[in-house]
Amino acid sequence: MRILIVEDEIKLAKALKKILEKEGFAADFVTDGEEAEKRILLFRKEYDLIILDLMLPKKSGFEICQNIRNEGVYIPVLVLTARGSIEDKIEVLDSGADDYMVKPFSFEELLARVRAILRRPDEALPEKLKLGNLTLSPSTRQVFYNSHEIHLTLKEYSLLEYMMRHPNQVLNREQILDHVWDFNFDSFSNVIDVHIKNLRKKIRYGKNNPSLETIRGVGYRLRE
Ligand code: CA
Repeated sequence: MRILIVEDEIKLAKALKKILEKEGFAADFVTDGEEAEKRILLFRKEYDLIILDLMLPKKSGFEICQNIRNEGVYIPVLVLTARGSIEDKIEVLDSGADDYMVKPFSFEELLARVRAILRRPDEALPEKLKLGNLTLSPSTRQVFYNSHEIHLTLKEYSLLEYMMRHPNQVLNREQILDHVWDFNFDSFSNVIDVHIKNLRKKIRYGKNNPSLETIRGVGYRLRE
């Protein structure tokens, strides 16, 4: 496994390289944004993970992340950020990163996250359902946006699975009730609407994610 570290604090970059190598990874580092982007685009097949600082000379981590995703590079990205607000974290994930760590962080936690990202399911496995950047794995009942896991209740999960099996189709309430709810369900209650609303909020991420639309008077559609 080969990891690219993009970090302009040279002491930190060297320390990261050292601990990653101690764990058996191969690691290189670059210290400016332009060089990092060039290197990633040129050696996209060689790296299994990128550790990316946000504040960099010449080009920011945000720009790099967006640019490489636009160029079709799907190497997992773990962002290092000094800012830890909810808005900052959402912005990081929206830019196409898979995970983030707020500075200062412990090396133990960083290694744990690196291992977690690298063992995430391969999106090429056939039993997965995919729509936009959303992936659903029926065998483990897990849902991912890129490789960021979205936690759903059992009902929200069932609803999403049913809709991902029928993408871009308008599904009426009766169809949804039949497939997702049990017989004891009171069809006059607004429980579907409530679950749809919650699910819509949870799957609303960045670019290229499916949107859960309400078709007034008819039903719902999960559209790519
Ligand atoms: Ca920096």
